Amino acid sequence: MNSETESLKEEVLRCTKCELAKTRNHVIFGEGNLNGGIFIIGEAPGRDEDLQGRPFVGLSGQLLDKILAACGFTRSEHVFISNIVKCRPPGNRVPTPHEAAVCMPWLLKQIELINPKILILLGATALKYMAGPEYRITRERGNWLNLNSRLAMPVYHPAALLRDPSLKRDTWEDFKKIVYKYRELVNPNHYSAHV
Ligand code: SF4
Repeated sequence: MNSETESLKEEVLRCTKCELAKTRNHVIFGEGNLNGGIFIIGEAPGRDEDLQGRPFVGLSGQLLDKILAACGFTRSEHVFISNIVKCRPPGNRVPTPHEAAVCMPWLLKQIELINPKILILLGATALKYMAGPEYRITRERGNWLNLNSRLAMPVYHPAALLRDPSLKRDTWEDFKKIVYKYRELVNPNHYSAHV
């Protein structure tokens, strides 16, 4: 991590700007490669993430890692992963608009420092707060959005795929578009055994 991101991380780990600070075990700053070119945004840490202090380590995270692997992507090389809010909402509820509004500046600062070529918005909450409340994941998934001159691909959240496996087919089509775009913008020689 470079020094700017390190000092941002130290600040975020001390954050008590919203009520979620009272019930969390860990602040989940995010993890991955700062220079990988892809920034993945989820909703919020869940129970497993809160206990381990890492993003996307539960069942959803394992599924996300499988999808990334099929694309030829790994956390250590190609992506950085974080969330709209950095502390777990009790009972894994959806973050409130207030919590999201208070926490979002951390995420926006991360994106500014990391400067990814591609954003992946995992699910309705990431789409809503990154693009706007009028955006619907069922309508927008699979379509590139331009968010302040940055390309963003909304896809279903892996938790939704676990609830409804029939969404996996569309999701794979969306991730194929991400691989094509990655070859176009980051590495023309990117290898994926499946795309
Ligand atoms: S959720 Fe965000 S704003 Fe709230 S305490 Fe955690 S880091 Fe701070």
